[in-house]
Amino acid sequence: MPDILFKNALVFDGTGSPPSVNDVAIDDGRIQGIGCDLAGTARQIVRADGLALMPGIIDSHTHYDAQITWDPYVRPSPALGVTTAVIGNCGFTIAPCKPEDRETTMRNLTQVEGMSLDVLRQGIVWDFETFPEYLAQLSRKGCVINIAAYVGHSSVRTFVMGSAASRRAATDQETASMQHLVREAMQAGAVGFASSTSPAHNGEGGLPMPSRLAEDREMRALVQAMGECGRGVYMLTKGGHTQISFLESLAADSGRPVMIAALLHNSTNPQVVFKELDAIAAANERGRKLIGQVSCCELTMDFTMLSPYPVEGLASWKPALGLKGDALKKLLASDDFRASVRAELAAPSNFRLFNGEWDKVHVVETASASNASCEQRSIADLARDRQRDPLDVMLDLALAEDLRTVFTALLLNSDEAAVRRMLNHPHSLVSLSDAGAHLTFFNDAGFGLHLLGHWARELGAMPLSEAVRRLTSQPARIFGMRDRGVLHEGKRADLLLFDPGTVGRGPKRRVFDLPGGAPRLTTDGIGVYGVWVNGRMIADRSGLLDSPPLAGELLTAFAA
Ligand SMILES: [Zn+2]
Repeated sequence: MPDILFKNALVFDGTGSPPSVNDVAIDDGRIQGIGCDLAGTARQIVRADGLALMPGIIDSHTHYDAQITWDPYVRPSPALGVTTAVIGNCGFTIAPCKPEDRETTMRNLTQVEGMSLDVLRQGIVWDFETFPEYLAQLSRKGCVINIAAYVGHSSVRTFVMGSAASRRAATDQETASMQHLVREAMQAGAVGFASSTSPAHNGEGGLPMPSRLAEDREMRALVQAMGECGRGVYMLTKGGHTQISFLESLAADSGRPVMIAALLHNSTNPQVVFKELDAIAAANERGRKLIGQVSCCELTMDFTMLSPYPVEGLASWKPALGLKGDALKKLLASDDFRASVRAELAAPSNFRLFNGEWDKVHVVETASASNASCEQRSIADLARDRQRDPLDVMLDLALAEDLRTVFTALLLNSDEAAVRRMLNHPHSLVSLSDAGAHLTFFNDAGFGLHLLGHWARELGAMPLSEAVRRLTSQPARIFGMRDRGVLHEGKRADLLLFDPGTVGRGPKRRVFDLPGGAPRLTTDGIGVYGVWVNGRMIADRSGLLDSPPLAGELLTAFAA
């Protein structure tokens, strides 16, 4: 007798084929059978009339590396239909890490991924130094969903070079030591090697994240080391200066796929992302596997001037990085500083988070009642009223409130026609939730539900079956997760049961449940009826179960 029998579900198998109404039997963590009127009994019957059943969502871009050591429930992703998460993106991992580098690693994460230093200090369980030891911890502790982990360039570099990792190029000997660590991680079961060359990625005190100091030959050597085992995906969050042609040469040398982030649409330079997608397509025609990570969410960030992530990637903002208190206020008040920021924003750029679109920056919350009339208004609007420059208006308001004013900026990906083209590009992967990071800035962990509800159902940007494929079998194939991502007999029973008429993601809301009671933004699923991981239920209509089983597996075996 099977463990579970879903009756009359509209089954999307993940391949993109049209759905059909069927019964699905689950036994021992796997899909035992699919068909009409499967033998009527099971330990549990799930009536699925009017509901859709699909493979669980694979989230290919998360940052749960730290959180997972204290929270095996990796909230909020599981309740949002995610059954497999890939961690270690951008190379911002916590392993390998020597005890003397733990503080720097946490401080870097605080800056680059907007994680609270107190939360990391209270939360991370540091019972590992090497990458294999980290994986051993994950496997010992278990997780509610399946996890695949990249080995991260910045951690590998810091392990070998210590504090010099953020300051200089590596010697040949250091590069050889890094290669050794990458090989060791791949043998232990890493899904690939992740790195970043993005100028938006700054660590403690505004120093670049270590991987940004890598010369091309170091990058090539490490990707080569990853590929020697015949497996692995090279993941890079690239700066505007990194050429697709260079990444194509790495794919050619290593024979491995290259996953390129973060391809977001920028209204002030609307063609650049399509040029990059064209270059990716051309590389594929030459037989190289390049994939562009795109997002189905508008990139909106809440921030204060104490930690203004949207502008921290500007070269002109550099003097402010690492400053605190009066020194920071003095700089923000200075005319020279403001003039250089204005000059940079006025110049064209290939990739920039914030592009001086002041009509897309709003005041969310003022600290003093006398400024309350500014709330919900855009900086552009306030500047027009006061006949002043918008940067001056924003900074003066923040300075008048001890930098506690909360702003929100709609940064990228707001042009729906453009995003629709990106989501349908043959070599794009719908991704970039950044789940686990930037917890107080934004939360896109529900990206999969948003693709199903907003893009497929509401806008008709793609058939629902295609949206399902892009969240399931497409990433499974790229990563070599051979028994996941499709709802076929014999495959693992990672499943999402949902109402196709209402599925979507709820609004963001603030909760205070991190170690020490620190705040984060979260979001609830809409139209989610149940989530199963390896055949075991972990979430129902009201979200994550109270004590869900740690049903996930640490994935360490990937197809070539
Ligand atoms: Zn990232």
